[in-house]
Amino acid sequence: AQPTVALVGRPNVGKSTLFNRLVGKKLALVDDTPGVTRDRRVGNGRLGDLTFQVIDTAGLEEANPDSLEGRMRAQTETAIRDADAILFLYDARAGITPLDKHFSDMIRRMDREVILVANKAEARGVEAGLMEAYELGLGEAIAVSAEHGQGMADLYDALREAL
Ligand code: GDP
Ligand code: MG
Repeated sequence: AQPTVALVGRPNVGKSTLFNRLVGKKLALVDDTPGVTRDRRVGNGRLGDLTFQVIDTAGLEEANPDSLEGRMRAQTETAIRDADAILFLYDARAGITPLDKHFSDMIRRMDREVILVANKAEARGVEAGLMEAYELGLGEAIAVSAEHGQGMADLYDALREAL
């Protein structure tokens, strides 16, 4: 069976954009609204000579914050349990937010190996946001731009080691 890579993180950090890049096509399933993924999606991912199943976890679906949190948490936990490698994304432009911290604490309690990914790193002035990675206690971040395809060689190295 193929190994499984789960993309996790708060809404809007670029999980679906990275999913599309790893799967290699623009899927119609991506919602028009940025930051919104209605269902958990699974696809055949590829990076260099690595092939794997990639799981994109959902974000917003309902306005009720309790329900939202519950859904995000349940989906994320399922994806994490099933995964051989976990990519935890955050937005390097925004830096570490309380929600990032919340999710990373949850994942750390699950005692799984996590690859920390700082997305949107093509933007100017992300150095501070990259430095903030230490706040999560998940090690150094791999700086990528899912949208522009930057940092994929470093991501490859990390995945090759993890899978
Ligand atoms: P998700 O909610 O985590 O799945 O995030 P999305 O993939 O839907 O992306 C949220 C927003 O961030 C969208 O407007 C994307 O176009 C944008 N985005 C994703 N990756 C990048 C990136 O590498 N750089 C920049 N500047 N924007 C990005
Ligand atoms: Mg999404």
